[in-house]
Amino acid sequence: MSLANKLAEERRARLAAERLLELKQAELSAANRKLGRHALALTKQIGATQAEVETVRDENERVKSDLTEANHKVQQAEKRLWLSIQSIQDGFAFFDPDGYMIGANTAYLSIFDDLEEVGPGVSYMRILQLLTDEGIVNTGDLDPKTWRDEMARRWQAPTPSQKVIQLWNERFIRLIDQRGHDGDIVSLALDITPTVRYEAQLRAERERAEAANRAKSAFLANMSHEIRTPMNGVVGMAELLGDTGLNDEQQLYVNTIKNSGEALLVIINDVLDYSKIEADKLKLNPEPFDLERCIHEVVMLLQPIARDKGIAMAVDYDLFLHTNFVGDPGRVRQVLTNLAGNAVKFTLEGHVLIRVTGVPGPDGHSSVHISIEDTGIGIPEDKVQHIFGEFNQVEDDRNRNFEGTGLGLAISQRLIKMMGGELWVESEEGVGSCFGFKMDMPHADAGAPPKVPQMPAEIRKVLIVDDLEVNRIILDRQISALGVTPVTCSRAGEALDRMSDDIDLVLTDHVMPDMDGLEFAQALRDRGWQGPVVLLSSNPTVAHNDPGASQLTTILQKPLQRAELFSLLADLEGRSITPDIPRLPDAAPPADEPDARPMRVLVAEDNKTNQLVFRKMVKDLDIDLVFANNGLEALDAYGEALPDLIFMDISMPKMDGKTAAREIRKIEQDTGNHVPIVAVTAHAMSGDADDILAAGIDFYLTKPLRKAALHDRIGEHCPDEARPPLPDDSDAA
Ligand code: ADP
Repeated sequence: MSLANKLAEERRARLAAERLLELKQAELSAANRKLGRHALALTKQIGATQAEVETVRDENERVKSDLTEANHKVQQAEKRLWLSIQSIQDGFAFFDPDGYMIGANTAYLSIFDDLEEVGPGVSYMRILQLLTDEGIVNTGDLDPKTWRDEMARRWQAPTPSQKVIQLWNERFIRLIDQRGHDGDIVSLALDITPTVRYEAQLRAERERAEAANRAKSAFLANMSHEIRTPMNGVVGMAELLGDTGLNDEQQLYVNTIKNSGEALLVIINDVLDYSKIEADKLKLNPEPFDLERCIHEVVMLLQPIARDKGIAMAVDYDLFLHTNFVGDPGRVRQVLTNLAGNAVKFTLEGHVLIRVTGVPGPDGHSSVHISIEDTGIGIPEDKVQHIFGEFNQVEDDRNRNFEGTGLGLAISQRLIKMMGGELWVESEEGVGSCFGFKMDMPHADAGAPPKVPQMPAEIRKVLIVDDLEVNRIILDRQISALGVTPVTCSRAGEALDRMSDDIDLVLTDHVMPDMDGLEFAQALRDRGWQGPVVLLSSNPTVAHNDPGASQLTTILQKPLQRAELFSLLADLEGRSITPDIPRLPDAAPPADEPDARPMRVLVAEDNKTNQLVFRKMVKDLDIDLVFANNGLEALDAYGEALPDLIFMDISMPKMDGKTAAREIRKIEQDTGNHVPIVAVTAHAMSGDADDILAAGIDFYLTKPLRKAALHDRIGEHCPDEARPPLPDDSDAA
């Protein structure tokens, strides 16, 4: 190869090398640039990461300090809480779900004094054991084990009840334990010693006040009792004075003395009863009694007043209800007398209806409802509860016309409550009132309710004549219940029109407008009707004395008792239906043989004034009267000449009336006699009535004595062999 070629070749090679170098240099610088860029990016990234790390570090620092602060706060709060718990006077502790103490305040622990064992970790059961073993708690009547068992049972209950325990040092602690959701128990032990002491003090003070009140009531009861005796003398003497031919003015004065005295006695009796209840001196004396008879006795007592006012009294005694119950008849009578007495007092026209219904229970008891309904002045709605308070009366013009103490309802309500019943009232002013009470009473006779009799076969239809709707309704219901068809009329004229051949019996009221019952009977006879006519009269005496009575089959006292209705119906069976009026006992033909002896009446009475009153009241009677000053003298007098009748005062010196009566009954067990004994008591409703009857006494009269009542009793008990004691015109008839 030529040099030139070689040089050219070298140049080419050098050029190629230079180009390659250039290329490589360009590549290198590109790579360098890229590296530079990368290094820059990396540097940036590192910078960012470093900043981030800084931030996180800062954050960490902050959280750390927050946590420390929070921890501090928690500790502080806990400390405060604990300090508060420590500072409270009452015990506070908490236990884990297994009953181990987690913590307790000083007050709680102080109960255990120096017992180091009691602290966090001790079990509740161990605490109970220490409380009894160390004599910290007073377990009272319970032995320590029983006490612990009771406390453990209580503690284990889902919601333990509160419990008061007494410590050895007379302090009282109320335990309140509360179970939380997680099973922990928070236990509070409150020191209630001051409250317990205060309550005990209040109780003692109340007892003292009640004792003082009882003493006051007892004093009042004694006072009233003492006032009654002389008052009876005043009233008795005034009645006698009234019989001594006075001029009108004198008569007025005497009547005023008598009426005021009687009013005063009513007040005194009420005060006496009320005081007795208040002084806890009133006891009930349950015994078997006939409720229906008791109600009728009350009606008979009030009948004369009602009759004078023109008010009808009716009794609607459930035909299927028992009548023999065990209860306190004296008190039941007292409540009935008060309620029915009020009904009569506050009624100017219309009627008073006593309704008795009952529901027999499974255990030989009946729940008896008695209501007394009137058509009187009623009670304003806002006064209805007021009237049950002591001395409370409705104060308005209409009410002011009526006398009373305002004690009757308060007494009745308390009596009914004592008997386990309740008293209520419904009333509408101007329309009437209905007082009622409910009592649960055991049956005296274990048997079934009274048997409703079979009606005689020949009586299928009964005509009932009464102007008063309530009476017609009652009779209608009773007659229907006996399976007989009733036909009711409100007027005798209407009854005459409706009279027909298929009527088998006529029941007629006595006093009716247009034509009375006696005239009606006469009209029936005039028409030739020969069937039985029964007159129902609230005043049979008047009816008996009426010449028209000869047309009647019989006269029955109104309101009619169920037993009388039943026996009347039974009597009608197969009997000739001719008139046959039974005579009243007083009107019976006297055994007036000339040599008959006078009736012997013994009166045991220690009070001379009362003796005088008695003597004067019977001065017109043909009797042999002997007085005894006490029970012992009465026994002697009884032994000397057997009396036909004894009037016996109850409270007498040396031997009281009840003892004397018992002694007489003892003697009679040998002789077989039975002298009727009439107790003369200061107050019929005093609950002594039952004791009196239990002593073998047959009847009782209440003071002040009434001449008519005395004459009645004497007339009723005159034996056949003695001369009739009553003069022909005696008012006893
Ligand atoms: P008293 O009849 O002696 O006033 P009560 O306690 O028996 O006392 O009666 C209190 C009052 O209740 C009566 O004064 C009267 O205002 C009212 N009251 C009682 N019963 C009736 C009644 N049936 N009708 C209207 N008011 C009555």
